[in-house]
Amino acid sequence: MATTQDTLTELVRQCREISIIDSCGSLLGWDERTYMPRKGAEHRAEQLAFLAGLSHSRLVDPRIGDLINTLRTSGNTNGGDDDASVMAREVGRIYDREVKIPQALVEEITRVTTLAQGKWAEARANSDFAAFKPWLQKVIDLKKQEAQAVGYKDDPYNAMLDTYEPGATVTSIERTFTPLRNELVALLDKIRGSGRSPNVGIITREYPVERQQQFGTEAATAIGFDFTEGRLDITTHPFCSGIGPGDVRITTRYDAHHFPCAFFGILHEAGHGIYDQGLDPKHFGTPMGEMISLGIHESQSRMWENLVGRSRPFWTHFFPKAQKTFPEALGNVKADEFYWAINDVRPSLIRVEADEATYNLHILLRFEMERAFFSGGLSVDDIPGAWNEKFKSYFGLTPPNDKEGCLQDVHWSAGYIGYFPTYALGNLFAAQFFAKAQQDIPDLDAQFAKGDFSALKSWLRQNIHRHGRRYRSNILIERVTGQPLSSKPLIDYMTRKYGELYGF
Ligand code: ZN
Repeated sequence: MATTQDTLTELVRQCREISIIDSCGSLLGWDERTYMPRKGAEHRAEQLAFLAGLSHSRLVDPRIGDLINTLRTSGNTNGGDDDASVMAREVGRIYDREVKIPQALVEEITRVTTLAQGKWAEARANSDFAAFKPWLQKVIDLKKQEAQAVGYKDDPYNAMLDTYEPGATVTSIERTFTPLRNELVALLDKIRGSGRSPNVGIITREYPVERQQQFGTEAATAIGFDFTEGRLDITTHPFCSGIGPGDVRITTRYDAHHFPCAFFGILHEAGHGIYDQGLDPKHFGTPMGEMISLGIHESQSRMWENLVGRSRPFWTHFFPKAQKTFPEALGNVKADEFYWAINDVRPSLIRVEADEATYNLHILLRFEMERAFFSGGLSVDDIPGAWNEKFKSYFGLTPPNDKEGCLQDVHWSAGYIGYFPTYALGNLFAAQFFAKAQQDIPDLDAQFAKGDFSALKSWLRQNIHRHGRRYRSNILIERVTGQPLSSKPLIDYMTRKYGELYGF
């Protein structure tokens, strides 16, 4: 009779093979969004659909179900954080979900979303929602079929959320978002009421792309992204893809007349990359070597991008370098002026370029939109109108076209419905983790000012990265900070930061 150890070893072996199939898909996906010639799209969709189907069929193989059941009933798993219990809990969770989705549906979702991403890119370039509409309709219909197949409590949207943030529900998200929204609106009122604003003209001067690339690479290296096991390329909608141990790809897009777009985009994706590079390679392919949730992944990118990258100590070190790299744009600019310009708060159209304070409103809007077209009665035809109306009420602005409105993000074309809320969760996790790191490492600011970011990276490795998915996000935040997730650390941080800049 097989021992628990034999069962565990066999389950790990099977999971590793599935992860190898998935990592081939990741590499093809990265290539599709960076270097693939446009006409390769149809064949790439076939390749990705085949791999997704193969991976799915391996995962739902009854032998995997038997191994999970053997582990669950062995008496040697106790719901704790040992390898056998984590494997039973986390592989079991994915197995229980995937086994309910017919393989034909998995393949169809992959095929359609791969094509839809190409259609979205074209439609976005031409600001042509009508061209994208039939594809969006197909994606939503398929994801609704998926929700029906896997089942859900209360709201089909819960079936989508759970994929990205295990355990999260509409109710739990609303409980976190409602106080956040109230506090943000009050904070934004104070900022608006101050009547002050920085000279943002500084950051829209000319910043030659090659020099942005060099400067961004230097910053990513300084904060700890390891280019011997990663690379940086150009794409339309920036992302990070952890292909596997020793290979983490980040991407960005450059705008010669907008410094923050690529620079903070690179810090953001490097933050994701540092997390992926910090996962334990010996656990590759198992939950102990994988990310916990998108909310936690995003907390890592937002921490490096904002709490570190938009801080005074960071620019104490980097501003003189920026002046040397971009003498035409920054030669006569003072460090304080620059610091305020990169921390300017004002309503804007594009989520990925939004400031820290208004960013979360972009997420709240998308959460409401998704709930409306996924669980509510909003038709695809009515998406642009509904988007613009909500946008007006949140930001006081009307998008001049759909490119800067409902077509701006890749997510829906990729089938990532239920993904957006994890961005706001990421901001909340980031602020709470960072406040604890500052307590644990009292001279963090002084280290940053010297260009030394290694203590924070080690703290993150130790407290977060090396655990993989051994703990769920709600458990991890309590283990590390001693408190459940709350909007308070984020609001406290913003009140301090913007209070100083805007004088309240
Ligand atoms: Zn991100």
